[in-house]
Amino acid sequence: MKLAKFDYQVPRSLIEACVLLEEMDGKALAIAGGTDLMLPMKERLKVPECLVDLRAIPDLTAISYGVQGELQIGALVTLRHLASEPTVKRNYPALARAALKVATAQIQAMGTVGGNLCQDCLCLYYNQSVGSKHGLERCHKAGGDVCHTVKGSKECWATYCSDLAPILLVLGAQVKVVDSIGEKIIPLKDLYTGNGKQPQTLRPGQLVTQIIVPLQGPKSQNIYLKLRVRKTIDYPALGVAVSATQAGAGQKVSVGLTGVDKRPLLIEEISREGLFGDEEIEFLVQKAYTIARPLNNLRDFTPKYRKDMVKVYVQSALEQALQLAER
Ligand SMILES: Cc1cc2nc3c(=O)[nH]c(=O)nc-3n(C[C@H](O)[C@H](O)[C@H](O)COP(=O)(O)OP(=O)(O)OC[C@H]3O[C@@H](n4cnc5c(N)ncnc54)[C@H](O)[C@@H]3O)c2cc1C
Ligand code: SF4
Repeated sequence: MKLAKFDYQVPRSLIEACVLLEEMDGKALAIAGGTDLMLPMKERLKVPECLVDLRAIPDLTAISYGVQGELQIGALVTLRHLASEPTVKRNYPALARAALKVATAQIQAMGTVGGNLCQDCLCLYYNQSVGSKHGLERCHKAGGDVCHTVKGSKECWATYCSDLAPILLVLGAQVKVVDSIGEKIIPLKDLYTGNGKQPQTLRPGQLVTQIIVPLQGPKSQNIYLKLRVRKTIDYPALGVAVSATQAGAGQKVSVGLTGVDKRPLLIEEISREGLFGDEEIEFLVQKAYTIARPLNNLRDFTPKYRKDMVKVYVQSALEQALQLAER
């Protein structure tokens, strides 16, 4: 299917991009790698009057370190760049591996970290071209008044499926958000609304410019596990990230999930004086199982299977991360 006509702007500065997007008040969209945006545009699910290409803006493609050793990832850094950067591979290996689990090598070469976090939620009933919908009534996400996934619901339950969000959440990441007035740094979890229709809290004219990941202690270990049918191209039907840190005689653990709700989920840091045993692991497994709400709007696996797999994947990720942290 051919794209509809749209205006195309290539601002040379961040402020120019923010002002353009703000003035168009939702009728213009930012584009980075375009791997998330192009398909819905071809399917006429998104019909922006203008695309604002962020790729000519300087300084958004760098990976650097701050004064406290924190990792600073420019929003336009590609997934391939992130995964191949030697210091990221050494200091944040699970993050580098998560980037390599996104889609395919081609998408990793084009897709950016900012675009990955700002990607749209998915739903089988929505992500089809207009012609394939066979008379389905327009749902909330398409501007209508019904939901085909959760019948009778007044809200959209489309599923958020970024592979990077859960690992960045357990690493304690923050994002820098810039607009025409200034900038702010917010915890990554505050980037998400929990509404499948409009997943990010950004207003028109606000852009993510940097992802900031705190320096991890020497005794901190992270794992990301992804459930999918094929070893490539598939979105996560479930993604589980765990961070485990040995702090003196005690341990700290946090768990992140993707593919099982309208936003990425985080079980925030839980500490224990001694080592995590079976009881603590079971507590976290149950907690993850309770908060995960997989629905029948993704292509692969049944919601029940995905929910059952939450237990298996969280247990496995916890055991692996805790074992590594104890070494
Ligand atoms: C076949 C296929 C398979 C895929 N599989 C996966 C997968 O397994 N895992 C996964 O996580 N993703 C997957 N994706 C989604 C997508 O390709 C990746 O998430 C990619 O990283 C998106 O980055 P991008 O730069 O291409 O985003 P774009 O398409 O350029 O942008 C995505 C959205 O974010 C907004 N945006 C982009 N940059 C910014 C910014 N700096 N500030 C504010 N808003 C911004 C855009 O306006 C747009 O709404 C898949 C896509 C396809 C087509
Ligand atoms: S969850 Fe419901 S409202 Fe949202 S895209 Fe799917 S069918 Fe539409």
